[in-house]
Amino acid sequence: MDHSATTPVAPEVLDAMVPYFNIKYGNASSLHSFGREAREALEESRVTVAGVLKAKPDEIIFTSGGTESDNLAIKGIAHRYQDKGKHIITTSIEHPAVLEVCRALTKAGFQVTYLPVNKEGLVELSSLESAIRDDTILISVMHANNEIGTIQPIDEIGKLAKEKDIFFHTDAVQSVGKIPTDVDKMGVDLLSLSAHKLYGPKGIGALYVRTGTRLQNIIQGGGHEKNLRSGTENVPGAVGLATAAKMAAESIDDEAKRLTRLRDWLAKAILDNIKEAWINGSMEKRLPGNLNFSFRYVEGESLLLFLDSKGIAASTGSACSSKKLEPSHVLRSLGLKPEECHGSLRIAMGRSNNQGQVEYVANAIQEAVARFRAMSPLGQK
Ligand SMILES: *Cc1c(COP(=O)(O)O)cnc(C)c1O
Repeated sequence: MDHSATTPVAPEVLDAMVPYFNIKYGNASSLHSFGREAREALEESRVTVAGVLKAKPDEIIFTSGGTESDNLAIKGIAHRYQDKGKHIITTSIEHPAVLEVCRALTKAGFQVTYLPVNKEGLVELSSLESAIRDDTILISVMHANNEIGTIQPIDEIGKLAKEKDIFFHTDAVQSVGKIPTDVDKMGVDLLSLSAHKLYGPKGIGALYVRTGTRLQNIIQGGGHEKNLRSGTENVPGAVGLATAAKMAAESIDDEAKRLTRLRDWLAKAILDNIKEAWINGSMEKRLPGNLNFSFRYVEGESLLLFLDSKGIAASTGSACSSKKLEPSHVLRSLGLKPEECHGSLRIAMGRSNNQGQVEYVANAIQEAVARFRAMSPLGQK
């Protein structure tokens, strides 16, 4: 129930990768046959990843993952186009890999506008429109949110960005493989993705860079990946990413339907049986497997530990922020009070989950909430 934090590597993905660790281990930049064999696998992987995004192969840059892709996109545009302007627009609910990069750029003299979201967790086009300035060089809005699963109106934002001649980046780490991601329909110039969120290995991802979009590199060296990302190519990783992305794309409609059914069943089971509970974020514009509950008078951390003792892995907020014990910036942006954020629970279903498990989880959550409320002075009303 925590597939938004990471996913297991699919057996087919592992099988495809293994030869590139030992038998076909060449350096993709070597000119001999071992190198050429590795290069071929790398370029084939690029074609596959491009196909999934409806992009061209030479628009795909392999990186070490979602965090690096976000860094390269945002710093890359900021430093390359700072003579045009130093204003960036993003949202208040982005992943730290975007928010912290923007924060760092602020120290380097850039100005950042953080768009609010409405109660549904969605960016309003009107607020974006009024945030755009003459010196805006980049808009970065995530496709699907990692905590509440809300899906932003990327196509419309893309149209607006194009009209105003502003580069548009989307962090699509949570959406690739779960919902369709077509770079032309979305109107994006840059798109980040990561393999380990879609049943691929950790430590590999990609950045889509639309032809004509120039970036300042952030890792210098031997000039790999069109000089945008130096370092000996991670061939097994690229093969793993490509295999995982292709598999996810092949089953995307069926899996989305299946997960939506499980999601809606669990949502109803919880809301019908537990009082003073609600779901954060829009139910319509939402990832198939995501639910984010709030339970009044209950601590999210206690809930998690109880579920863990029942063999259920879930999360409060995102895996990245849950150690900080600060209320989630995403839930705060929805207008929740700090104490309401603490009683939240993220359920992120994926390939391995089925109806039997969802019923088990529904029972466990009911038991946990009843128990913690019985112990809480406020919960006994
Ligand atoms: C996981 C995640 C990232 C970071 O990706 P890594 O590959 O783990 O660095 C970035 N953005 C979102 C929305 C994520 O969910």
